[in-house]
Amino acid sequence: METFAQAGTMDSVTCPFCGLLCDDLSVERDVAGNLNVAKNGCHKSITFFSRAPQAPSPRVDGRTVELKDAVAKAAKILGNARHPLIAGLGTEVQGMRAVMSLADKAGAALDHMNSNGFMRNIQVVQNSGWQICTLTEVRNRVDLLVIVGTDVVSLFPRFFERVVWNRDSMFDQNTSAREVVYLGGRGIDTSAGVAPDGRKPDVLPCDPEHMPDVMAALRALLAGKKLHATEVGGIAVAELEKLAQRLQTAKYSVIAWAAGALNFPHAELTVQNITELVKTLNKTTRSSGLPLGGNEGEMNANQVSAWISGYPVRTSYARAYPEHDPYHFSTDHLLSSGEADAMLWVSSFNPDRVPPKTDLPTVVFGHAHMKLEQEPAVFIPVGTPGADHNGIMFRSDNVVSLPLDQLRDSALPSLGEVLTAIEQAL
Ligand code: SF4
Repeated sequence: METFAQAGTMDSVTCPFCGLLCDDLSVERDVAGNLNVAKNGCHKSITFFSRAPQAPSPRVDGRTVELKDAVAKAAKILGNARHPLIAGLGTEVQGMRAVMSLADKAGAALDHMNSNGFMRNIQVVQNSGWQICTLTEVRNRVDLLVIVGTDVVSLFPRFFERVVWNRDSMFDQNTSAREVVYLGGRGIDTSAGVAPDGRKPDVLPCDPEHMPDVMAALRALLAGKKLHATEVGGIAVAELEKLAQRLQTAKYSVIAWAAGALNFPHAELTVQNITELVKTLNKTTRSSGLPLGGNEGEMNANQVSAWISGYPVRTSYARAYPEHDPYHFSTDHLLSSGEADAMLWVSSFNPDRVPPKTDLPTVVFGHAHMKLEQEPAVFIPVGTPGADHNGIMFRSDNVVSLPLDQLRDSALPSLGEVLTAIEQAL
């Protein structure tokens, strides 16, 4: 029987390093546990899997200690805190369940490292609802894809390969005839939007600060309003009129954005203009929004938080029941206002996502390769889900979850094991 200590090639591996969760990778393993993407990788997945297996010791105040001593110190910090913050939350479903249990017991607030973007979407859902689709629907139905202000391939490298220029579709659509429009964004890589037959995507660029005006103008045109201006944000109104007409005549248009990329004040209103114009389009044809996200376990954090507490993250258990506030329970606010008095930071997928600088006592549950400028009170290296241990991960579209497989032997504990030990020591 094959063991993790043997060299081999594993097929149909799921990659957890972006919200697409591609599940068709082939990954080779040598006897030392080094992994190498042999097929269907992208530059992100190659980086993710090629990090050499390491199992550094936990540290307390920079000194190497046994895991039990690091757990005891972390429990002490948490026990002494009145309103601790558990942030980062770069983990899979089981790890997030352990986070929720610990937060409930310790009276902690929860926030994810990508929440600044994600909350733009949440505010729209809470305020007016939306009509969105899955990646599978895009893959099988889209005929016109409009990408709003987002450099898709830098965030989701195989997006076009997997769901736009896929050869097969369930309804025998000629996928190579699909049309792609980039609206907004400047200097973004549009090369992946070139169709297999060489047709280039249409690009209507504008600076990010003009994105709200451009989306509001497009929504107004689709609502039948007449614009007196001849250009909006540097885009000719005639071009926006053409785009409005294309959206009206498309059989199934999809308007995609990554909320994290819409990084300007009150970007939630731009998201709302997208989702409201989708509603308008559905009076006469079919259209859907596609909010892209899910990197660093963002969907896991919000899904698990929602099914356990009733709310997404930015929820606090300080009053012994869950309270949600997208402003007051943000990491930035809790740290800058002094309302948090200890921080636990989780980043098990990505060693580069280090905690924000703070003078608070800090416990880091990090990827084994994490390098920290500021030594925390406690550092506990944890295994990487989908490489060092099994897990479950939600895809960008939030309705599909996929299993992550252990691919090698590892001496590292999972986040769930460590947090459970801390909770028992509290
Ligand atoms: S596109 Fe994303 S999920 Fe797919 S292989 Fe690359 S990093 Fe992994």
